[in-house]
Amino acid sequence: MVCGLRRCWGGLGGKRRSDAGGKTDYLVSAMTLYDQHLHSRHSFDCRTEPAANVKAALARGLAGLTFTEHFDTHPDEWKDCLYDDEAYSATIRQLREEYADRIFIGKGIEVCYQPQRMDFILDFLASHEFDLVLLSVHYFGDRPVHVEEAWQGLSVEEGTRRYFDYMLQAVNFCRDLLGRGERVFDVLSHLDFVKRYTKRFFGNDAVSCCGDLIDQVLSTCIEADLIPEINTSTLRQNLDETMPGDQTVIRYGQLGGKAMSLGSDAHTAEGVGSGFDKALSMLTAAGIDHLAVFKNRERTEVPLT
Ligand SMILES: [Zn+2]
Ligand SMILES: [Zn+2]
Repeated sequence: MVCGLRRCWGGLGGKRRSDAGGKTDYLVSAMTLYDQHLHSRHSFDCRTEPAANVKAALARGLAGLTFTEHFDTHPDEWKDCLYDDEAYSATIRQLREEYADRIFIGKGIEVCYQPQRMDFILDFLASHEFDLVLLSVHYFGDRPVHVEEAWQGLSVEEGTRRYFDYMLQAVNFCRDLLGRGERVFDVLSHLDFVKRYTKRFFGNDAVSCCGDLIDQVLSTCIEADLIPEINTSTLRQNLDETMPGDQTVIRYGQLGGKAMSLGSDAHTAEGVGSGFDKALSMLTAAGIDHLAVFKNRERTEVPLT
């Protein structure tokens, strides 16, 4: 399994540095790091040229990047799923021809959980090839988290609990699939995504009120063989913490979690691989000592110590 990947970041006992703001983080040699959540013009909400992402990953010294283009099937918002596998696969083939000797380039997909469309989603995934399948929860019930009007009539706490309830439904679905011998999803994306929007719309978040539900989500991830991601996109969006934040990462370690995935969720080349120093120091603080890396749907756990 593990594969010839070398451990080479500073880690505990490694070198430390201070940035201009006085914060301390770890010097990381990026040679074992993979950005496993990012987008290009093959996603509806992104115009970035895929090759620009590859060049940015090379400049950061990453070992690999995995594109995870959006697959959205909500029956009202996305009557026609805009995902185009043929065009996307052709791009991946071209990029591999040009860059495969220098960096791993993965073909992944970000699937939005839509319980009323799961038969369609599962059929699609079974008939296409990926390195990595992300499961994302962007809705709670029929409400899109990212639309302010969808919060009408709900307090931040009520809506946030509904969001985590819905996520629990999603991970329970994955656990049930595994019970039938089907492992369809690899990574659970941006676990407390809801806070990005409650902070934007209402100026606060209620994640800390939902520890009971988050515990259930994390425990079910372990049972479902689903790896949670540390998503660093919020660090580029005026929030001071990743998704999830450090308390949830610590809790995952306490509940028995051994490995997490890193994802920038970059929609521009500048974002690729950003914030990973912070994510790695959070993992260390939580006693989680492996990164989960996916190729051809197989997981490798890269040790950090
Ligand atoms: Zn997402
Ligand atoms: Zn994304």
